[in-house]
Amino acid sequence: MVSALSEIFEEFADLDREDQSRFLLELGDEIPELPAEHRTEVNRVHGCQSQVWLITETTGAGDSAKFRILADSDSNIVRGLIAILQAAYNDQTAAEILRYDIDGVFRQLHLQQHISPQRRNGLRGMVERIRSLAERHAVSVTRAVDRDSQTRSERPSQPVRTLDIGQIRSQFPVLQRSLPCGRLPVYLDSGASAQKPRVVIEKEREVEEQYFANAHRGTYQFGLRIDEEFEGARSAVARFLNAGSADNIVFTPGTTIGLNMIASGWGRGRLGPGDEILTTVMEHHANFVPWQQLALETGATLKLIPLTADGRLDQGQFEQVFTERTRIVAVTAMSNMLGTITPIREIVRHARAVGACVVVDGAQSVPHFATDVIADDVDFLVFSGHKIYGPTGIGVLYGKPERLEEMRPIHFGGHMISQVSVEKSQWSAAPAKFEAGTMPIVQAIALGEAIRWVESMGIEAFHAHEQLLTRELYRRLQGLEGMQIFGPGLEHRGGIISFRMAGMHPEDLAALLDQHGVFTRHGHHCTMPLHTWLGVSATTRVSFGIYNTQDDIEAFVNALTQAERVLRRRGSAS
Ligand code: PMP
Repeated sequence: MVSALSEIFEEFADLDREDQSRFLLELGDEIPELPAEHRTEVNRVHGCQSQVWLITETTGAGDSAKFRILADSDSNIVRGLIAILQAAYNDQTAAEILRYDIDGVFRQLHLQQHISPQRRNGLRGMVERIRSLAERHAVSVTRAVDRDSQTRSERPSQPVRTLDIGQIRSQFPVLQRSLPCGRLPVYLDSGASAQKPRVVIEKEREVEEQYFANAHRGTYQFGLRIDEEFEGARSAVARFLNAGSADNIVFTPGTTIGLNMIASGWGRGRLGPGDEILTTVMEHHANFVPWQQLALETGATLKLIPLTADGRLDQGQFEQVFTERTRIVAVTAMSNMLGTITPIREIVRHARAVGACVVVDGAQSVPHFATDVIADDVDFLVFSGHKIYGPTGIGVLYGKPERLEEMRPIHFGGHMISQVSVEKSQWSAAPAKFEAGTMPIVQAIALGEAIRWVESMGIEAFHAHEQLLTRELYRRLQGLEGMQIFGPGLEHRGGIISFRMAGMHPEDLAALLDQHGVFTRHGHHCTMPLHTWLGVSATTRVSFGIYNTQDDIEAFVNALTQAERVLRRRGSAS
């Protein structure tokens, strides 16, 4: 039985240092052991001298759910500190925990004076972990409420699950592979391409070994099975995006080709001099160059939605930049460099008011937070399979039925036609109209598997985990001398952080990090106009996936600190 806080106050506050230690040992004896299955890496609290694992349980639902702290340590004094935290926090809601003056409790107990600086850090680490678990709960409740209140056409919200990241990470063979330096890879480049879990790799193998055939061709057993799997993948994508119907899902080779298909197939022939295409300076080249070229070709004007100094879309300018001439608004849902999450619904609202078509680059958003194309009311949205734990060579173009009807195919050949004569041809209905020739069949099926795998845990839980990592890394980087982090504060960004450090060129830094088995991206990240706007030629980028852990952050910060020493000594150009 854990003592109540009032009892602890009564007995503890006036004790001297030695007696306090004895009392902490006694308190430590009272707390129940944490079952072995919870003593995992993911549940370990960093910054403690001893080993500490901490999780929370909730009873009840929503914002009235009450928290219970479950924790353990190999040090009995730390177990005593855990007992104090349990007495202080148990049975509080997330909001109460976040408001709670725990330092006031420590002050009243004179705890800070009586424990060593290392123990103080450990205690702080536990408090931070409790607060971040409470915050994660609060965010998930708010998001569910927001979604419910925003539109009735959205799917019912699922409760956000707490994931066992260690278990998830063990499903990624490539992350278990020792590097020549003897370390396991610390993979921090999921924004470029995510790694694949075993189920996805095995799905590809299953198709190749057991029933491969071309799709929509043969009515023999393999042909029928492959059609079923291929169309099953399309349905999985439709469900994941809340696309209404699988007919609105076109398979493409990836985001880049999808955006080119829209620019050429929908934009060309619809735009002329005087028309405006609205985009932003933060776009990936894939969502910039096709529109730039379309403007040059048609005489339309490419216009940029201004950014705020911290790299968000300046919503105060929307009224001016959206005009009667705006025909297309092409914008990313999340910047691959700044991490900025853009306000898609606000953009759509302004676009509707002027009758413009909204094209969303979902390459960085679809793998990391919930997408609902119907609720968002976007005209087109594209993403790539390889960033959502699926294979390369496969991507998705969602279009509203009427937009797909209006859009011309830009690739011609087999499967996309309904009639061909010597003089002319007629097209099939979407999605076949846009899927000429043999598709990346195995990859599409494996993408379906990747999406089912994400759905089995819930994309909301992915988002919550990645936000925790982002917050932690942001905090750690902010404390470093000479650090410049690009992009907005945490409330407006997803799991990407790009930065520069004084005296360290990103390319040199990447090479040194690589020596520690830490894989990051450096360069302009296919966002040259954005880098020009920021006044830098290159940055270092960390981007998270579901398999990343606090230990990856630890390894990254350690490698960064060591690289800094080497580069500062050598005076690397900044
Ligand atoms: N848009 C964004 C925001 C991206 O991050 C990327 C990939 N880095 C792309 C488009 C292009 O995707 P792909 O290379 O798969 O076509």
